[in-house]
Amino acid sequence: MKVNGSLIQAYNICPRQAWLMSRQMSSNQNNSFLEIGRLIDQTTFKREKKKIYLAEFAAEIDFITLKNGNLFVAEIKKSSRTMASGIKQLKYYLYLLNKKGIKCKGLIKIPKEKISITVELKENDEALIKDEIDEIVAFLSSNDDAPVPKKIKFCGKCSYFEFCWS
Ligand code: SF4
Repeated sequence: MKVNGSLIQAYNICPRQAWLMSRQMSSNQNNSFLEIGRLIDQTTFKREKKKIYLAEFAAEIDFITLKNGNLFVAEIKKSSRTMASGIKQLKYYLYLLNKKGIKCKGLIKIPKEKISITVELKENDEALIKDEIDEIVAFLSSNDDAPVPKKIKFCGKCSYFEFCWS
């Protein structure tokens, strides 16, 4: 079972959502990290590069940008309601990129709320991320059936709402 950034975010919102997503995962094996590495090397990469797809992890980064010589991987969110899970998702991307030798920081932007925060991988984050990946893999592998739905504040905007509640 392969964990990706979207699954980490979903798991932190609702484990059932992560379970449902995990049953539709793609297994595309293109090496998109090389593509990012090449992008960083390009002198033409001056402003923003939008929609970077990390195919190995079925994850899409909204854009990457350079500021004062620092590379930022950015996610655009609709609201701060899912900020905590969004930070975890972004840290997971930073962790993956870091493992590939690509040093960068994260940026979460919420245009509607005029919020822009920087996210950095801290010293103990790697261990926390590994633990969480193990926890998610164990959860997804040990549950043959989807967990029963539980009404939470995120249900109304969840794409599985009708599946869960009708
Ligand atoms: S509708 Fe609610 S219970 Fe169902 S997957 Fe979404 S968040 Fe979870």
